[in-house]
Amino acid sequence: MTELATIDSALKVLFRYKLCNKCLGKLYYDPGYVENEEVGESIKIVLYMEAFKYIQEENYNYGIEILKTLAENGDFHPAYLSLKELNVDLEKKGFQCDSCIGKIDLNSIKDEDG
Ligand SMILES: [Zn+2]
Repeated sequence: MTELATIDSALKVLFRYKLCNKCLGKLYYDPGYVENEEVGESIKIVLYMEAFKYIQEENYNYGIEILKTLAENGDFHPAYLSLKELNVDLEKKGFQCDSCIGKIDLNSIKDEDG
């Protein structure tokens, strides 16, 4: 069982699964003094910033894809707001974390990535 190490691997995971902040945070090494939830939220914030980098660097579609993933699979509210501002239609559905409802096992995700 290995922990995720990079932001890119978090994005790969979020492309496939719906994960709340806490469960996303659990995929990373636990340094001990920050909550899983804070780790997960921070990662989503960094991905959110990266999405705008792509949008500004003429890779608009990929940036939008990241924002949609953050909104739909990460339940990350700022991504919804930004998509709305960019006139991208996205229906807000009820969010259920795949791990919290027992649909997936976090340990198997870690192994897939490694
Ligand atoms: Zn969860």
